[in-house]
Amino acid sequence: MQHGPRVAVIGLDCATPTLLFDDLRSEVPTIAKLMDNGMYGDLASITPPITVPAWACGMTGQTPGQLGIYGFRNRKDATYDGLSIVHSGSVKEPAVWDALGANGMRSLLIGVPPSYPPPADFPGWRVGCFLTPPSSDRYAYPQDLQAEIEEELGGKDRYIFDIPNFRKAGSDVTLDQVFKMTERRFRVGRRLIQNKPWDFFMLCDIAPDRLHHVFWQYVDPAHPLHEPGNKYEGVFHDYYRFLDRELASLIELIPEDAVTIVMSDHGARPMMGGLCFNDWLIQEGYLVLDEPVDGGPVPFKDVSVDWSRTAAWGDGGYYGRLFLNVKGREDEGPQATGHLSGGSRRRP
Ligand SMILES: [Zn+2]
Repeated sequence: MQHGPRVAVIGLDCATPTLLFDDLRSEVPTIAKLMDNGMYGDLASITPPITVPAWACGMTGQTPGQLGIYGFRNRKDATYDGLSIVHSGSVKEPAVWDALGANGMRSLLIGVPPSYPPPADFPGWRVGCFLTPPSSDRYAYPQDLQAEIEEELGGKDRYIFDIPNFRKAGSDVTLDQVFKMTERRFRVGRRLIQNKPWDFFMLCDIAPDRLHHVFWQYVDPAHPLHEPGNKYEGVFHDYYRFLDRELASLIELIPEDAVTIVMSDHGARPMMGGLCFNDWLIQEGYLVLDEPVDGGPVPFKDVSVDWSRTAAWGDGGYYGRLFLNVKGREDEGPQATGHLSGGSRRRP
């Protein structure tokens, strides 16, 4: 069977157009060369622009609603019993590699979310994503791929799936891990891209996302917490220069006749403020608690909700996911339809 060109995708999690196309363009000659010799542009993410659904939607051509995946944690079902963490089996729709596999073509995937636990069967080779627990004994398909990764990196636990507690680990620790994660992932990528007969290759690196989460305020003068002259002001320059060299060493190994794609799943920007929308829902009468909450913020799972009088609530992330309590779907969807059309304490 005559196949088209092979395709190699390098996924830079959270790589942001304003950085790579503008501010840091001179720091990333490899990416700039791809832009000059190929084509590029802003890529619309999904709503919500969150890692797991964004990659899953990109690779299946579905929306978060069609996949039922809106983030890292999702409602388990139509009950109110909290959230479950997304896993490799959460995606029920066929992805690019499934379609290729059905046509006898094999894929080599490294770190493409969601990919933990490893699949029971796969048309090719697959290494787990950032959802893989550290020190996991089973993180790749086929399992003997793990021995090869460990040999390449000089031991078990050298491969970094994600930086545990990256927000609280301390800036220096996180920064060090960001560099090591990228270095080791690309090293594994260079080895496998050469010795596996792939038709489709894809490597995703979550390191830029972790870097942006922790260091945006230090780098971006527009951030409300920015302090000029802080010691982390140059970390984006340093990291992207380093990443670009890693990228160059991987791209060098991609066959001439293959199509190379560098893409991200969403961007980043300073957080200028927030809205406590459960408070607003309470104030407007859409969310009714059994008893009022005093003092500071309380996790939603710790408040007692009067579900029979609640029309809507928010839970599951910092990006404002709102759920409707629907009669006939949720266990205690409001019996009186008036609750869904307007709050009882709505102000004029
Ligand atoms: Zn992401």
